[in-house]
Amino acid sequence: MLKVFLLVLVIGMPFGAFATQEFDRMNEKASVIEDANELRIFLLSHQKVSAEFSLLEQVKYWHMLGMAQDKSNEIDNAYQSFTNAIRIFEENQLPLTTDLPLAYIERSYMQYLKTYQAKDYCGDRKQALELIRALPEEKSLTVKFLVQNAFCFADKPEQLQQGIALLDEAIATAKQNNLENNLYSMIYNALGHLYNKNQLYDKAYEYLTKAYDYWKLDNDYADMFNMQHTLVSISIQRLDMKAAQGHVNQLFMLAENHSEFPDFYFFSFFNKGLLDLAKEEYLKAYESFGEALSRKAQTNEKYFVKISYEKQSEAAYVLGRFDDVKRILANYENEFPNAKPLLTVTSAIKEYLAGNIEKAANIFYLEARNESIKRRQFIQQSSEAATFINSQNLLTLDNKVLQQTLEINSLMLSEQQNKNSIVYLSLSLVLAVLLGAILFIHHLVKTRRAFKYSAQTDYLTGIANRRHCFEQGEVLLNQHLNLGYELSLMVFDIDHFKKVNDTLGHDVGDNALKMVVEKVKTTLRKQDVFGRIGGEEFLVILPEIDIGKALEVAERLNKEVATLSISKGNITMPLSVSIGVAKCTDSESLDTAIARADKALYQAKSMGRNRVVKG
Ligand code: GH3
Ligand code: MG
Ligand code: MG
Repeated sequence: MLKVFLLVLVIGMPFGAFATQEFDRMNEKASVIEDANELRIFLLSHQKVSAEFSLLEQVKYWHMLGMAQDKSNEIDNAYQSFTNAIRIFEENQLPLTTDLPLAYIERSYMQYLKTYQAKDYCGDRKQALELIRALPEEKSLTVKFLVQNAFCFADKPEQLQQGIALLDEAIATAKQNNLENNLYSMIYNALGHLYNKNQLYDKAYEYLTKAYDYWKLDNDYADMFNMQHTLVSISIQRLDMKAAQGHVNQLFMLAENHSEFPDFYFFSFFNKGLLDLAKEEYLKAYESFGEALSRKAQTNEKYFVKISYEKQSEAAYVLGRFDDVKRILANYENEFPNAKPLLTVTSAIKEYLAGNIEKAANIFYLEARNESIKRRQFIQQSSEAATFINSQNLLTLDNKVLQQTLEINSLMLSEQQNKNSIVYLSLSLVLAVLLGAILFIHHLVKTRRAFKYSAQTDYLTGIANRRHCFEQGEVLLNQHLNLGYELSLMVFDIDHFKKVNDTLGHDVGDNALKMVVEKVKTTLRKQDVFGRIGGEEFLVILPEIDIGKALEVAERLNKEVATLSISKGNITMPLSVSIGVAKCTDSESLDTAIARADKALYQAKSMGRNRVVKG
């Protein structure tokens, strides 16, 4: 036993000392190599000898190599090197140092570059944070890792609070320990990013401006520039064109004074182009993106080069310069063969140029719909707006957008239309929808005034009124039957409602109506039309739903309402509805289809109520 121990001691000692010297020598040489690729090759040439380093030195070796590989754009190899560092550390149960959490963080960054999927790279970030928390003296790294983890909560609105909680902790830690300015810029940048991703642009703007101020304290020009770049887009989102112009000016100023950053001018012109487009100054936009593209060799950020091509072609398209559009897209294709368009508008323009007018119009139509969904989420998530915006405003917005998208759709269908003008009209309609929606929301958020209900809304329940509901039904009917899509509808009526009024009073009856409406809403999709067509009678129109599915929807609705009851004092009355369902056919009018559903409804009543009958 003793012998073995001595043997290890004798062999191990000089061996260990030798290895350390060897590592130090390598490290010293490596530290003067500036070129990443050269460093990578130098380190690789030590791979064999690295097996003789001490274990912690091996960890450091793989970390250094990983960093050099990352800088040489060898992402997969870098990922593997950080994995080696982690493996050596963990398999040998080395006492915890920052080397382990740092390897996790770097590996998460490589994974991020590989897939951009939070679910892929956030495991490592979480691990890094846990490890660094076990090293309480490492305050700066703790703050950095908190920030890195906060980015993991950017993609889902329901996780926003978790992300913010991490950043709150980061701020508290930085303040308590008097940490350096650049940590604050990182934290505020992340806060701004979280709010921006969740379309809370006012808050995003506030925090990103703060981040900028901290970077300015450190004269960190690259980050100052990046921030101005982001602030341009956010200002445009907030429809503050004056602020956007200010940020564009800042970009050009930084570009002028800092020629050490070769791509500043590219991005200055790029952002100017974005602002020109937002102001609908298409000729200027065309030129700005042209200026940006003439400087594309100065940037490695291919994504923005691609966007520049696409935005320039969009500007040329709106100007009607189709030869230019073709030339721009040919250059784009040439530089990025087989690249899929990043922007939907580009896909539409391509279809248009290929002569597929209807396809092009359809893409615009879908874009408008998606945009309306985004806008809807924006309202729902805006904490500032939440206090005074209620579901009625959302419904009004939906109605508006639905109406406009339907107009686009009917344009597609009108065969007699001059084909060429369809796409023009579609584009201008999309712009009108978007601009309308943005202005509408902006108005709500800015003025803090309750929105006046339009003539389309039922005063009591906030859903569509009879006239509006029928109008929408007519439009949908025409649309659907022309396109060959199914359309179904249902009519329902509250059971024994007179008794509710008589027993509990009219006010309570009103509340019961509202309760039923809210419950029914939860069973419907966004695109379903739901209106109050009589005192306690309602119509639901179900686009793209056949009679079989409509019956399922009706059954579900029926069951949901039957869970409700209304009470006053110690009297409680159950609520239920009877439902008639009908399929719309192309041989009859909307009124006839509704009449059939009505008949089925009365059948349901006579069969004992609280049930669904097919008409
Ligand atoms: P059933 O439909 O099951 O046959 O019985 P019912 O008692 O519901 O009968 P009916 O549909 O004929 O009665 C509708 C009643 O709804 C009459 C009216 O007093 C009441 N009503 C209509 N509009 C409102 C309203 O806006 N608020 C309240 N509280 N009651 C209303
Ligand atoms: Mg009735
Ligand atoms: Mg009734």
